[in-house]
Amino acid sequence: MNVLVFIDHVDGHIKKASLEAASYGAQLAQKAGGTAEAIALGNLTEDLATLGKYGIQKVHQVKNDALNTIDAQVYTKVIEQAVQQTGAKVVVFSNNSTGKLVAPRLSVRLKAGLVAGAVALPDTTNGFVVRKNVFSGKAFANVSINTDIKIISLNVNAFTISATGGTAEVVPFNATVDAPKVKVIDTTKASGKVSLTEADIVVSAGRGLKGPENWKMVEDLADSLGAALACSRPVADAHWRPHNEHVGQTGVAIAPNLYIAIGISGAIQHLAGVNRSKVIVVVNKDPEAPFFKAADYGIVGDAFEVVPKMLEAVKKV
Ligand code: FAD
Repeated sequence: MNVLVFIDHVDGHIKKASLEAASYGAQLAQKAGGTAEAIALGNLTEDLATLGKYGIQKVHQVKNDALNTIDAQVYTKVIEQAVQQTGAKVVVFSNNSTGKLVAPRLSVRLKAGLVAGAVALPDTTNGFVVRKNVFSGKAFANVSINTDIKIISLNVNAFTISATGGTAEVVPFNATVDAPKVKVIDTTKASGKVSLTEADIVVSAGRGLKGPENWKMVEDLADSLGAALACSRPVADAHWRPHNEHVGQTGVAIAPNLYIAIGISGAIQHLAGVNRSKVIVVVNKDPEAPFFKAADYGIVGDAFEVVPKMLEAVKKV
């Protein structure tokens, strides 16, 4: 069962989520007896041969300026050609913004079953059953894909990157590339030094911080941990922080290894976007705050006293 992994990139560099997808695809190919190949579109500056470390044997690269802009229809048609030419039976995407745009379109074009939001390798002992998150991460569903070609999009941070392999062969892939219908006029860099969806650690704060002038200590804590910044929705609505930092049901859904929530009550709509985090630490002055029920570690205390102490402790490590 040959596997093809879609490699997503930003500023010419392979996204961490794609390394997870590569590790996942390689382990699936090994388990199901097949090859693990990858497709990368556009002009990457990073050496694609490094994907061999994650178990990818061959990388097909389509170098074409038209692919530097993500146009879902153009990308879908190129990946469709790669599936047909490589004979792949499973296509793996990361369930990030590009994967969400392209995987469903490819599913329609190839009449291939799609499981979006996978969290584990498929069970291939009796068919092809993929475990995925449902109900905003509150439960799992095991979904069987019965079509000849199968598509999986893997949740970000759901699968451990394994780098034990060697070097991948990189080959040019000749594809027909349509002219994009989308023209990018301007791009704005999201705030924060670390990408929120890719971060291992996220430091997030809510209305308990009283105002935007108090975010310096949160930024310092995030900086010292190499973490991304996030916030609750009212904070973004009040323009204390930019909307790209808002996490939750109506914001970004994240699954970092560590989520630190400061002065956030833990409303269900907030939890819907963060409850897939592996470890949750809550700082709140109200011992009855609902977030403590979802927390692995809780600190009952005033953020203005606790956060500087956390920062001091982190700096000592
Ligand atoms: P608050 O509810 O005001 O809580 C502030 C917390 O800070 C309190 O628990 C308080 O005890 C604590 N606190 C106060 N002072 C301090 C201090 N000095 N030190 C420590 N702790 C302190 N919200 C989201 O976040 N994301 C979403 O995606 C989202 N989507 C929504 C969708 C819908 C349809 C609706 C209706 C609501 C949505 N909400 C969302 C809003 C959500 O219901 C809550 O209102 C919101 O999450 C509350 O934000 P908060 O915890 O920052 O503020």
